[in-house]
Amino acid sequence: MPEPHFDHSYARLGNQFYSEQPLVPVHHPELLLWNTALASKLDWPGDPRSDRELLLALAGNNYLPDSKPISTVYAGHQFGQYNPQLGDGRAILLGEWITRSENRFDIQLKGSGPTPYSRGGDGRSPIGPVIREYLVSEAMHALGVPTSRALAAISSGETVVRNRIEPGAILTRVASSHLRIGTVQYFAMTRGGEGLVELVDYALNRHFSKRKITGQQPIVENLSSSGNNAGSFTIGCERSDPTAAEILLKAVGESLADLVSRWQLLGFVHGVLNTDNALLCGETIDYGPCAFMDQFDAKACFSSIDRQGRYAWPNQPGIMHWNLAVLAECLIPLIDEKTETAKSIAQSIVDRFPNQFHQHHQERLAAKFGLDRISDQDLALIQKFHDLMNKHQLDFTLSFRWLAEEANQTIDHSPLPEIFNTPDALLDWSALWKARRAENKGDTKTITQAMLSVNPAVIPRNHLVQAAIDLAESGDINFLRSSTERWRKPFDWQEKDSEWARSPSTEEKVTRTFCGT
Ligand code: AMP
Ligand code: MG
Repeated sequence: MPEPHFDHSYARLGNQFYSEQPLVPVHHPELLLWNTALASKLDWPGDPRSDRELLLALAGNNYLPDSKPISTVYAGHQFGQYNPQLGDGRAILLGEWITRSENRFDIQLKGSGPTPYSRGGDGRSPIGPVIREYLVSEAMHALGVPTSRALAAISSGETVVRNRIEPGAILTRVASSHLRIGTVQYFAMTRGGEGLVELVDYALNRHFSKRKITGQQPIVENLSSSGNNAGSFTIGCERSDPTAAEILLKAVGESLADLVSRWQLLGFVHGVLNTDNALLCGETIDYGPCAFMDQFDAKACFSSIDRQGRYAWPNQPGIMHWNLAVLAECLIPLIDEKTETAKSIAQSIVDRFPNQFHQHHQERLAAKFGLDRISDQDLALIQKFHDLMNKHQLDFTLSFRWLAEEANQTIDHSPLPEIFNTPDALLDWSALWKARRAENKGDTKTITQAMLSVNPAVIPRNHLVQAAIDLAESGDINFLRSSTERWRKPFDWQEKDSEWARSPSTEEKVTRTFCGT
């Protein structure tokens, strides 16, 4: 079995894809968090808790063996406006880490210093965004959502100047890759198609096919165990010989439809769903102003810069559809020689997205309600539940968990009676819902039990994430550590869960989030 090591297949595509990037050391790095579970999944050889050299490497102070740091170029529509060149402005790709079983993961340092794409920024990150990304991305993984992950968080011992002077930090981010819709846009739109063929072949091979990258092993695993891995991916191709671009577009559309349906059903608001923040591999990326809704809010929107609510919770499926259309536009020249044929193929793939989303959403919604399926007659029942959450200002997560505990008759073994008030109207509704569940076909016991594994007991609530950040800023990382531990098992009840699970008080409630870059 080969030893795990770094490879650089993306850099081999050619120097128009990246810039070589010398590391920029920081003053006095100290470890905040180390993800032992992820390290073991990656077959990572060292542990920065005992290995100072490794800690220094993850701070960007020295080079890991075989790593060849680069920053990559991309473009993107930001709030609907095309920006012809963005790129890793505060991130450095150390390389692609190949595990013993030959799975390939990008290892990136985020907040590690300026690059040619920093556009006047300092390339650094305050500790707050690093902690937010670590906590929320790892919680998303535990919740079963495909996502980039966090291997380490390190304080830099330096300060960064934003609205105030803040301590700096660096995140080690791991993703199946950092190829974005915006990466395709850069080569299609900004560079007029130069490098596009190579990029499309590369992305397809790396994520959606068992074909080999020249001289490399097949790359089949995504980071999330429940995620889209190429091994189980079905690419329905009507044409007998579809082009790589056509297959890629279909595959990305399918992954993103699945992804956004998972967000919706957790009440997760990404907050900055620009095309450069949509990964081709279908993992969630960019935990900037993201937040989970506490109290149900059909228009939930937290980001301070999203004044029009473009990226509000209800708009996410539509925005992802829009992002897919941008990808389609980029790929048209490669889909078919005849532009009209290419356009019509691209259009038909893009047009499938709403239905793909709907199917994932209905299936997962049925599981959350303990229903075998959702028929047209069930829609009124489901709408009524949402109306009740709205009218009685109920907590989104706890309302669904209440369903799971109610169906399994386990409420008294949970902290719910202490932290969740059940309005009479909800009890009345639940009689109708129980009658409907009695009509379930199939293994009703399994359907009922499964509700406990799709309706989480705890989520990384904004006020708790904020508390972890505030304490860490003042040098106390105990709560940060216990948060990472608690959110690893979101579907089980644990001790002290009345605190972890409850919704925030009015004073605790976080209603605005910031990119914090
Ligand atoms: P984001 O909104 O986080 O996706 O960032 C948008 C763009 O701004 C990306 O190209 C980032 O790399 C860049 N950027 C964000 N923060 C910084 C920073 N502190 N220094 C340099 N570039 C940054
Ligand atoms: Mg981004």
